[in-house]
Amino acid sequence: MSAQPLLTLALSKGRIFEETLPLLKAAGIEVTEDPERSRKLILPTTQPQVRVVLVRATDVPTYVQYGAADLGVAGKDVLLEHGGQGLYQPLDLRIARCRMSVAARADFDYAQAVRQGSRIRVATKYTTVARQHFADKGVHVDLIKLYGSMELAPLTGLADAIVDLVSTGSTLKANHLVEVEKIMDISSRLVVNQAALKLKREPLADLIDRLSLAIER
Ligand code: ATP
Ligand code: MG
Repeated sequence: MSAQPLLTLALSKGRIFEETLPLLKAAGIEVTEDPERSRKLILPTTQPQVRVVLVRATDVPTYVQYGAADLGVAGKDVLLEHGGQGLYQPLDLRIARCRMSVAARADFDYAQAVRQGSRIRVATKYTTVARQHFADKGVHVDLIKLYGSMELAPLTGLADAIVDLVSTGSTLKANHLVEVEKIMDISSRLVVNQAALKLKREPLADLIDRLSLAIER
């Protein structure tokens, strides 16, 4: 009898970790340590052959692409920017749901700027998606790459508008910004290393099945 192969699942701390836990639990896997309380980056689970590694949200696709993790959970936003090379995306987990939108200062007339064909300065972490979106609309933009706190850009004059994730809209509101255009709905996906899918076919197929049933519930 051969031992079960080790499965490494990459998650990011915060909402993805929190919202993945119930799905894992329904699939029969419980994470036995709280990442907010320990500094560990590798967490054991109730299944000896399954472990969780904690990485930055934007690094999840990279860990899975190179096989350092067999599978992971990543937002569609992150996957589109990464490109998805080497990743099999079997399930939309329907967690960490939000939308990617264009937002601007209340006193910036986005619709008019678009109509007039003006060049618009847009700050975003999502340059790939933003470039594609504005190109499809035929809108001229100068994109400014940022790594966080996008809401600050229009307030300081760095940009006319931003492309960012919105869920309730309260962060935008608190910064006097208005959502002027939805680009797409966002949720998190299960991503699996394509080589692992062959080498660890049985345990991975089993886990994907269990997670798929957990989403239905
Ligand atoms: P960090 O906060 O460490 O800089 P991050 O912003 O990429 O990293 P999170 O804020 O935890 O990490 O976001 C992780 C994922 O959760 C995003 O990639 C996105 O898919 C989703 N997400 C982000 N913001 C929201 C939101 N407001 N509502 C719902 N889901 C969101
Ligand atoms: Mg964040």
